[in-house]
Amino acid sequence: MSRIEAPRDEHTGTLTDRLLAVLPPEAVLTDPDVTASYAHDMASFSPAGAPAVVVLPRTVEQVQHVMRTATALRVPVVPQGARTGLSGGANATDGCVVLSLVKMDRILEINPVDRVAVVEPGVVNAVLSRAVGEHGLAYPPDPSSWETCTIGGNIGTASGGLCCVKYGVTAEYVLGLDVVLADGRLMSTGRRTAKGVAGYDLTRLFVGSEGTLGIVVRAVLALRPKPPEQLVLAAEFASVAAACDAVCRITEGGHVPSLLELMDRTTVQAVNAYARMGLPEDTAALLLAAFDTPDPAADLAAVAALCEAAGATQVVPAENAAESELLLQARRLSLTALEAARGTTMVDDVCVPRSRLDALLAGVERIAAEYDLTIGVCAHAGDGNTHPTVCFDPADPDETRRARESFDAIMALGLELGGTITGEHGVGILKKEWLARELGPVGLEMQRAVKGVFDPLGILNPGKLF
Ligand SMILES: Cc1cc2nc3c(=O)[nH]c(=O)nc-3n(C[C@H](O)[C@H](O)[C@H](O)COP(=O)(O)OP(=O)(O)OC[C@H]3O[C@@H](n4cnc5c(N)ncnc54)[C@H](O)[C@@H]3O)c2cc1C
Repeated sequence: MSRIEAPRDEHTGTLTDRLLAVLPPEAVLTDPDVTASYAHDMASFSPAGAPAVVVLPRTVEQVQHVMRTATALRVPVVPQGARTGLSGGANATDGCVVLSLVKMDRILEINPVDRVAVVEPGVVNAVLSRAVGEHGLAYPPDPSSWETCTIGGNIGTASGGLCCVKYGVTAEYVLGLDVVLADGRLMSTGRRTAKGVAGYDLTRLFVGSEGTLGIVVRAVLALRPKPPEQLVLAAEFASVAAACDAVCRITEGGHVPSLLELMDRTTVQAVNAYARMGLPEDTAALLLAAFDTPDPAADLAAVAALCEAAGATQVVPAENAAESELLLQARRLSLTALEAARGTTMVDDVCVPRSRLDALLAGVERIAAEYDLTIGVCAHAGDGNTHPTVCFDPADPDETRRARESFDAIMALGLELGGTITGEHGVGILKKEWLARELGPVGLEMQRAVKGVFDPLGILNPGKLF
């Protein structure tokens, strides 16, 4: 979709001058070397254009001014958080305004009675988690990138994380939003109450909208009482299929772990190489399970028995919180370590019903062999959400082609198995051809119609999603 054109060079002056009428000079960056550094997120195979300008507003009024200016000049606007996205969703288009929200990073309120936090979009996920922790509260959605990614980006992508298997994903924690619309108007959605059903749920519509409907400038987030410290167990398996069988037995048995993650051999080796974690390298799959219940040791013992029944070759419960944290760190490092160990990677994000996890992972092994590529797998196994990570050398055109084709083959298999092309990373640029396949023509038409209501000029993050 492209109803806008990049501003001609002579527009850039006008654009910058207009922005500077309200924003201070330090919030308007035009040096091409600097603006180029804001061009893309962390996805491979996602083209990025050259921004005309990068703006770093600190107030809602400044964001409104940016959007009014962009509407007046018909200039595209690309909202950005920390640019840790893995789908090209935050990539610049030629001549756009990059609207980086990272300076709007205040936690405005933490209310233990209402169990809500009110935050600006640039607050880093881990900063919020620690801040609410001091009040005996928790903000559960915890992407592995939590030390750097922002709440605005988490809302933009509807992100998940390790503990979402028990506590749910970002969508379940966003109660209300303040959003600056394409024409600069400010809209509030949702609520800060425990319940509320007034009108369409526009809050949910914005979660996962990848910056294509409006700019989130404030969010009311639900909090939970802080759970007890979790204890982690590591189970080794001689095959990925046996680890998947254990996942099924654990959920079928009625257990609700606070984390249920899988790393295959390639991933384990990459993490060891990257951070000398001492994980068992001869295992085909490592399953991490955790409980934050009043008696985690008892719950882990029950799960250990199920892992053994599924064929685990070794089951090692962590002895204390520090050991547990080390295992979690290993899992969080998976994608970074795969990239460091193998050069360029392309991270898939296919999510299937838990009962089809083994079929998907067997298929990924087949696809890796067929395309003669290394594909490491880490997965939020308890959610059926997998990250097959295709490793390739971008200097080798044939390997690059095979990487892209294998990536697509994994998505095709995910859909065949009743899954989705993206469990948490979003569509962005990377998967937009695939969105149509998943939604079908009617679904796609309705989504485009919704976009048209919020963004009639098509200036908000154009070229993403559709
Ligand atoms: C090592 C690593 C591990 C990761 N692990 C996970 C994981 O476990 N789970 C997971 O879900 N993701 C994971 N990710 C992906 C990524 O971190 C998430 O998608 C995250 O939510 C992006 O946040 P961000 O601040 O970097 O946003 P960005 O990448 O800057 O933006 C993401 C999207 O949100 C939009 N956006 C940003 N701010 C706003 C705003 N204020 N208003 C409107 N739209 C906005 C952007 O336009 C873009 O479409 C991982 C990434 C890396 C690199």
